[in-house]
Amino acid sequence: MGKENAARKNQATVLNMDESKENKQIIDKGWNMELFGKSDARVVNGARRSPFHIITAEEELELIKEIESIGAATINIYGDNLFCFNDTRAKGTGYIDDLDIIIVRGNVFPDLISGSVHPRDIMSSRAVLAHEYYGHRRHRGTRLPAGCWQDEFRASRIAAEYTPNLTDEEIMHLALDAIERKRESGVVVNMDKFMRRIIYGYQS
Ligand SMILES: [Zn+2]
Repeated sequence: MGKENAARKNQATVLNMDESKENKQIIDKGWNMELFGKSDARVVNGARRSPFHIITAEEELELIKEIESIGAATINIYGDNLFCFNDTRAKGTGYIDDLDIIIVRGNVFPDLISGSVHPRDIMSSRAVLAHEYYGHRRHRGTRLPAGCWQDEFRASRIAAEYTPNLTDEEIMHLALDAIERKRESGVVVNMDKFMRRIIYGYQS
């Protein structure tokens, strides 16, 4: 209990972000789910570029620019690098709660050769970084198991709404990914105001 509180306090200190009512509702829905065991890395999946693609120094510089552009911190709560490139501690790009690090591997890049139109396959590297940082890191220590649809839905949904400086296309891909996560798990998709505005372009 005490440990969890400390972790949450840390999280609040590090991730200084407004919690809107809507955001809170999404989080609460997550917390109300059945409680599961501790999670491992939250790894990106889908038909993206291979995680075994080694990110080059040039690509790393571009990714660092993208990280800066979304206003992400680069040092974690332990004083280490938050973004770890080509790190093999996870099978692909993903967030590791315990270490407070985001592993960035080759699958951070979309696979534009396969011809997939799935938002998870074609979203930009910056959208993926937003999903990891604003989506997963924001909920560090969550009781939802890594990879469950609620955890992934929430990550993309919140990243779509709260990440600064994303393009309209990146916001759309994250929103669509959130919907897909829900749909794929057989859950009826009820879109909230934000989602309707993003997907259909209208206000109410
Ligand atoms: Zn994820």
